[in-house]
Amino acid sequence: MIRIRDLEFRYGGQERPVLQLNELSIAKGERVFLRGPSGSGKTTLLGLISGVLRPTRGTVQILGQDLSALRPSARDRFRGDHLGYIFQVFNLIPYLSVGENIELPLRLSSLRASRAGKAGQEGSASARRLAAALGVEELWGREVSRLSVGQQQRVAAARALLGAPELLVADEPTSALDSDHRERFIELLFSEAKKQGTTVLFVSHD
Ligand code: ADP
Ligand code: MG
Repeated sequence: MIRIRDLEFRYGGQERPVLQLNELSIAKGERVFLRGPSGSGKTTLLGLISGVLRPTRGTVQILGQDLSALRPSARDRFRGDHLGYIFQVFNLIPYLSVGENIELPLRLSSLRASRAGKAGQEGSASARRLAAALGVEELWGREVSRLSVGQQQRVAAARALLGAPELLVADEPTSALDSDHRERFIELLFSEAKKQGTTVLFVSHD
């Protein structure tokens, strides 16, 4: 799923690399938790894995594809087809409803749309199923700006999993949740990922 070799990354103009990684391999279907203190380069690593950042040196392959070999438009398409991403905060598009946010991948990727089934007025069956599994089905038509952070993160998880992307990347998605909600969120996320055979890379400082 992920193969990293001789990776080095520095932000523009920096003398010392913020990240150096000789090797990292993650197999399909693995669920990996990566822990490191704040500032250790976790978000940078996820940026490299999702092709938002390009390595200063070395290679990052996802599903055997070297991301820096792709043109920007092809890289965007690759990401839309194969990657679900959950951010720490500000995951959702504020002017779309819960359901529209969850179904976003269906608009961005025909591959994921074909895996999930067509979206309709009430959403595709798999969008509905994921919303129910994550406990946000009753929020379907609601404005996302009126949700609690915990609800927002569960909507973000449903969106990231919709259309069964091969890889799910989660960047400290529980840091704004209290500890009860944190555990429950992680359980739901991992059990849904397991059902779909989605590889998970989950990072946190904690
Ligand atoms: P983490 O996610 O583990 O907290 P980051 O990957 O965000 O760590 O940051 C790693 C290091 O890179 C930090 O020292 C941070 O200050 C630096 N950094 C992050 N983003 C940028 C940027 N856009 N430009 C310059 N330095 C950055
Ligand atoms: Mg970070």
